[in-house]
Amino acid sequence: MSLRYKLKKARNLLSALTPEEHAELTGICQTIRQSQETLLQNAATAMQQCLHNCEGLCCRNARVDDIIGLWDLVYILCLAPDLADDMALRVELEKPFYSADCMFLKEAAGPCIFAPAIRPEVCITTFCSGDRSIQKQIRRVKRDFFKLHWFFLWRKPRAVRRYLQQVLKNGHGRASLPAGYPHGANSRQKPDHDSHRR
Ligand code: SF4
Ligand code: SF4
Repeated sequence: MSLRYKLKKARNLLSALTPEEHAELTGICQTIRQSQETLLQNAATAMQQCLHNCEGLCCRNARVDDIIGLWDLVYILCLAPDLADDMALRVELEKPFYSADCMFLKEAAGPCIFAPAIRPEVCITTFCSGDRSIQKQIRRVKRDFFKLHWFFLWRKPRAVRRYLQQVLKNGHGRASLPAGYPHGANSRQKPDHDSHRR
């Protein structure tokens, strides 16, 4: 899966959410951001190595597609939607199958265009050394990202359950599924069977 494809898919997933679902997802993403902030507050020793000794080697000459996944892009787009167009232009520079400097480095030199606590999971949880004392904070960031994945995995069953509850309560005429579901408000759209995959 190329980054270009993943970004397009992330935008589609976000635009298919109902306002209630979007609010729920935003809550999950805010929790991830808090976890990332806590991790950064405790990661001074490990960061020292990244910033001063190695100057962010991880962002250079890397297979960026392997580093940044679909849920990372959903997270970033949810909390920083203003970056969407810039990200779309940058992923056009991707050369799949080749290592390169990350296209999300500002002006090709850095720093990263994403705010310090709105980073892809691997970018913020990977350290070469000095991370023994922050294992708990790293695990918390990973666990919170998993909740985001889980949110999409269970989105459809949740919507179907709500729909059935509405049917039982109000009758079929007044119940509706969100856009993208068979018999829903937008039933001509093809259902997105891959939304739970990374
Ligand atoms: S994790 Fe290691 S390679 Fe990556 S930026 Fe930090 S010190 Fe450099
Ligand atoms: S997204 Fe940012 S932190 Fe992650 S590899 Fe790219 S430039 Fe580095």
